[in-house]
Amino acid sequence: QLSIKDLVKSFDDNRILNGISTDIKKGEVVVVLGPSGCGKSTLLRCINGLEAINGGHVFIDEDEVVHNSKDLPKIRQKIGMVFQSYDLFPHKTIIDNITLAPIKVQHRNKAEVTEEAEQLLERVNLLDKAKAYPRQLSGGQKQRVAIVRALCMHPEIMLFDEVTAALDPEMVREVLDVILELANQGMTMIIVTHEMQFARAVADRIIFLDGGKIVEEARPDEFFTAPKTARAKAFLKTFE
Ligand code: ATP
Ligand code: MG
Repeated sequence: QLSIKDLVKSFDDNRILNGISTDIKKGEVVVVLGPSGCGKSTLLRCINGLEAINGGHVFIDEDEVVHNSKDLPKIRQKIGMVFQSYDLFPHKTIIDNITLAPIKVQHRNKAEVTEEAEQLLERVNLLDKAKAYPRQLSGGQKQRVAIVRALCMHPEIMLFDEVTAALDPEMVREVLDVILELANQGMTMIIVTHEMQFARAVADRIIFLDGGKIVEEARPDEFFTAPKTARAKAFLKTFE
C-alpha cells in the first residue's frame, strides 16, 4: 500500500537519498537501519510529505504524497508519525491531547472519540492518567501517549523515528512492547531504531541505508546473522 519509487532528496548540494525504491505491503513491519546521518529521518519525513523531494514518487494506495499540495493534509491522515520528542501540548490534559485532532481535524463525534481514546489508554496501561497533564508523566508514559494519539487518527501506516532514543533505559521496554503489540495486531509500520534486539524481533524486513541508497534488504534473521555487505557488517559491529 506504500510505494516509494526512485526517491531522491538533496539539501542544497548534498544528495542525501539517491534513488530509494521499495514497496511496503499492508501489515508489513519494516525496520530502517543505517549509520547516523545516512538519511533515515529524512526518508520518513519525505514519506509523510514534510519535506519536498527532488525526484521520484511516494504513493499511499493510489494517492501521491506531494509536499505542500492541497491534498496533503487529507493523505497525511493515513500516516501516523511518532518522533523522539513527544511534543504533547503542555497545557492540555492527556485525554485532550489525544482527542483534539480526531475532533477538530476529522470532525468526529466527541463522545465516540473520547471512548476510543480511553480504550487505547487502557491498552497501554495509562487510563489513570487521562486527566493528568504531560508534565506529570514520565518520558516512557508520554511516549506511549504520543503513540496512542497517532493511533486515534486511525492511520493506515505508522512511522516511528527513534522513539526510545531520549528515554531512560528502564522506560525503553514499555514503549517497545507497545510497538511490538501493534505489530502483532497487523499494523503496517516503518520503524527507525537503534535497538537491535527489538529490530530483529519486530521486523518482517530490514532495510539498511548508507550513502543514499538501500545497500541491503533482507529478513531480520538473514540480516543479523549473515549480512551480505561489508558496510552492514561494519554497522552491526558497532552494536557488539
Ligand atoms: P541519525 O541516526 O543521527 O538520526 P539520520 O539517518 O536520521 O541520522 P537525517 O537526519 O535524515 O539522518 O540526516 C541526513 C543528512 O541530511 C545529514 O547529513 C543531515 O545533516 C542532513 N540534513 C537533515 N536535515 C537537514 C536540513 N533541514 N537542512 C540541511 N541538511 C539536513
Ligand atoms: Mg534520525
